[in-house]
Amino acid sequence: MDGPIDDFLKALHAEISTIGEGAPASYIPELAKVDPKLCGIAIATVDGAVHVAGDWDRAFTIQSISKAFVYGHALEVHGRDRVLEQVGVEPSGDSFNSIALDTVNKRPFNPMVNSGAIATAELIEGADVEERRANLEAMFARFAGRALTLDEATYLSEKATGHRNRAIAWMMLSAGMIEREPEEVLDLYFRQCSYNVTARDLAIMGATLVNDGVNPVTGKRALDAEYCPDVLTVMLSCGMYNYAGQWAYEVGLPAKSGVSGGILAVIPGQAAVAIFSPPIDANGNSIRALAACKRIAERFGLHMFRTHPDPRTVIRYELDGRQVRSKRTRSLRELEILFRAGPRIRLLAVQDALYFGSVDRLLRRAKDLAAEADYLILDLRRVSHADAAARTLLAEFHTDMRRSGDKVIFANLEADGPLASLHAHLAETLGDLSRAVFDSRDRALEYCEDRLIAEVLPGGEMQTANVAEFELFRGLGADDLACLKAIAEPLSRPAGTVLAREGEEAARFFVIMRGSASVCAEVATPTGLKTVRFSVLGPGQSFGERALIGGGPRVADVVAESDVELLGFSLAAVEELAAQRPTILIRLLANISGELAERLQVASAEIRALEM
Ligand code: GLN
Repeated sequence: MDGPIDDFLKALHAEISTIGEGAPASYIPELAKVDPKLCGIAIATVDGAVHVAGDWDRAFTIQSISKAFVYGHALEVHGRDRVLEQVGVEPSGDSFNSIALDTVNKRPFNPMVNSGAIATAELIEGADVEERRANLEAMFARFAGRALTLDEATYLSEKATGHRNRAIAWMMLSAGMIEREPEEVLDLYFRQCSYNVTARDLAIMGATLVNDGVNPVTGKRALDAEYCPDVLTVMLSCGMYNYAGQWAYEVGLPAKSGVSGGILAVIPGQAAVAIFSPPIDANGNSIRALAACKRIAERFGLHMFRTHPDPRTVIRYELDGRQVRSKRTRSLRELEILFRAGPRIRLLAVQDALYFGSVDRLLRRAKDLAAEADYLILDLRRVSHADAAARTLLAEFHTDMRRSGDKVIFANLEADGPLASLHAHLAETLGDLSRAVFDSRDRALEYCEDRLIAEVLPGGEMQTANVAEFELFRGLGADDLACLKAIAEPLSRPAGTVLAREGEEAARFFVIMRGSASVCAEVATPTGLKTVRFSVLGPGQSFGERALIGGGPRVADVVAESDVELLGFSLAAVEELAAQRPTILIRLLANISGELAERLQVASAEIRALEM
């Protein structure tokens, strides 16, 4: 189905097709034979979508656009230092086929002009001619996601007439910039320019460059991510030859053109646009493709300096330990402690991408809050990305803060989640993450609460429960309790045991005597199924008792978090008992309702806090 971008491309295609100026390049005789009316457009995105219009599937030779990809290959094989010895990164302001070298360094100015590209072609890896050709083809195939074919006629045509390039190669041999036999280097260069591509291929190749080197359609790596910015930089400063400055001013996107009429322009981190239309101007740039790029950039505000993220939205909301509580069910005594100590726990819900500007803002606020609190939880649930600056700054902040105790805690940070690289960086710089990183907000809150409770109740509350104090049995007389005890079945289960299973018919309810159990269920999230803990129960608390109200299948799993001791009560036995002592059932039902009402209140308060 066509969307707004497809419609826009169709209209753009019609609009630029009316431009009649310029003529196809003729200095390579074969190129002059092309139909000047051809015009194709394609946009490929980093998530692998491709939008097309016009003659997007017509093959044309890649020409100078190949220079960007061969440069990337050379960097990957030889490293930056070695490649820089042979070719600079200075815009020359000269035409693409200029015979000048940089007089200071005796190097070609940059890899986007012919001299630099010929020097770069010599760097294509391989022990012999055959291997170098094969490596060149393999490199193109990785970028395009399919094998590209050589246009023999264009290759032979350029080989027969490319005397100016010959002059450049021989001059570079004399300057010591190339070492191998010039004709052999030129042969590879003429070939690299003569591979057939379509606008669609080129768009995918460009999208690969802005997708950190991974082809978004095949999912396979074409270039080490390390070198993608190098290629994009020379594209921006030198890709359009002596029009590069004007281009950067007007369009503001890294781009590369070729004399066969192609222009590839890329939107860093997002997409690539490829346009093919043979008539070129005096600079060797396709006239319609130039116009199209300007229109696209203008229409969508794509100039690199026109769009930027806003660091001011990084803090979603702030809460303290009174407004938000872990899912662990607490005794009244513990609740009281937490209510008093609540403000000593602070939570910052962070959102959007983390980078230099947003992390700076986040950490300024975090520092203020940490000064007032004992625990500061940075909840990263809504953070999609943390770049290198963010990783460094967050690790440094944590290290700094550690000097005054384990204050700063990251929640919703997992080793295999979207912030895996942040997790890895923290593990590397902080070492032990057990008190610094939690996979959920709930676990982080529980940890902080436990520490606050332990200050007041070092031994913890109610290690072994006294049946008379059970919330479920509140208000029952000694006789009733004795009767209940008589039908109770003591059970012990190791940590990890599923004590009750979602969907299963309930025949019993349980009271925890020792240890803890969590109530959890799988919920669907955008990234797949996730186990969510709804509550954590401890000694004196019960589960499954709601079966007394109406029976029916269980609504969640209950899993032992530690080794547990339980008392099991069969529903049938309780009902039998109630037939003789009806007050037991009335009391139990009243206690269950009271408990439900209380939980509802806590849940409502939490929902209200999250509305912010
Ligand atoms: N093969 C062409 C040449 O060397 C490439 C030039 C270009 O596309 N600007 O002349």
